[in-house]
Amino acid sequence: MAVGGCFCGHVRVEYNGQPLTSVLCHCHDCRKLTGSPYTYNFVVKTADLKISGSPKEVPKTADSGNPIKNYFCPDCGTPLFGHKIKSDGEPDDTTVVRAGIFDDDGILNERKPEAEIYTDRRLEWLSPVEGAAQIIGYPQT
Ligand SMILES: [Zn+2]
Ligand SMILES: [Zn+2]
Repeated sequence: MAVGGCFCGHVRVEYNGQPLTSVLCHCHDCRKLTGSPYTYNFVVKTADLKISGSPKEVPKTADSGNPIKNYFCPDCGTPLFGHKIKSDGEPDDTTVVRAGIFDDDGILNERKPEAEIYTDRRLEWLSPVEGAAQIIGYPQT
């Protein structure tokens, strides 16, 4: 089990099991929504995720064209997680959790990025992560 939360502590997040994958993303949305040059994310099963507190929902159409919602602490603004929204309005089966919210550095050290996406937008002074798949744009499934 992994536990984490926002900067002020009002929202707590935990999930059971292991992430399905771990992805570093260089897209513009990720930059805006975190204020960082890229995001590091754990993709988890939405059903395995437990949230306490009331994150603020922000809906948007992603760079990929999918309707998405991102969730932030309403008090301190920490970006927590996001997911696609299905046509029936329900969240997708998988959720993308911002890896930096987890309390234990060990989880982040253990789990290296399996892939980097939107590498065409990676800042010039950043190097690819060794061993991570390099994907231009969004992976097509
Ligand atoms: Zn907070
Ligand atoms: Zn992104």
